[in-house]
Amino acid sequence: MFPERLQNDMIETKRIKKNFSTKESQKNVSEKEGPRTPRYHSSYNEDLVRLNQYLALNIAASLKGDTKRFYCYICGKNDKSFKEPFWDYIVDHLESSRHVLYCPDEDGRMTALEVLKGRNKKGRPSKPKHAKDKVQRELRMLFVGFLLQNGLPFTFIEDLISFCKSLFQTYDKQDLEELTLSKTTATKIAQSCIATSLKKTIFEDLEKEPYSLSVDESSDMFGDSYLAITAKYIKEENSSKSNQSYD
Ligand SMILES: [Zn+2]
Repeated sequence: MFPERLQNDMIETKRIKKNFSTKESQKNVSEKEGPRTPRYHSSYNEDLVRLNQYLALNIAASLKGDTKRFYCYICGKNDKSFKEPFWDYIVDHLESSRHVLYCPDEDGRMTALEVLKGRNKKGRPSKPKHAKDKVQRELRMLFVGFLLQNGLPFTFIEDLISFCKSLFQTYDKQDLEELTLSKTTATKIAQSCIATSLKKTIFEDLEKEPYSLSVDESSDMFGDSYLAITAKYIKEENSSKSNQSYD
């Protein structure tokens, strides 16, 4: 019975492999940029660029086809070492000393920045500094409280914040408010979508590396039987011990 389940898992893995590969390639891109963990970035916003003459003239979608990055004609033309920044950093780029140095149209640049910064305010007047600081302090307390309540490691905080930011940059407020996800559905997604990809990676590792297996059968309170397998092996690329199990 068990090998048959394995077979089914492998078929399922093949089916979602395409999706997984895309995620892997995104991870590789961000690794080249510096951060080791994959970051979440919003996509290049063509509609916003078209709103402003300066942006429409000087900013374009990535020439390399990366949907998360943009190309700057001003910097690309003047600076051979120019690398396409993430769209999330468009404001930082336009304010960077290098872009300012090459920029021939200072008034246009300022108008473009107003458009870009105004997009986040959504018509609301900006808050005074002390009010902003107060909100920032509150948010920090909330995030740290969330980590502590859920027993999450502090190393998780940056990823958690960038994930939250990416959600409201990518999705409408209404869609997020309507989101429902029960622990049953979350378990199903983890088991039938994500776990199969992880299994595939582990199987590939096990074909290459020596490993040890611990096998034990157990049953839950409803009488269902489970076979838990733990594989221990050393992974060559980072020399860290991987320890995975599934049932
Ligand atoms: Zn530039």
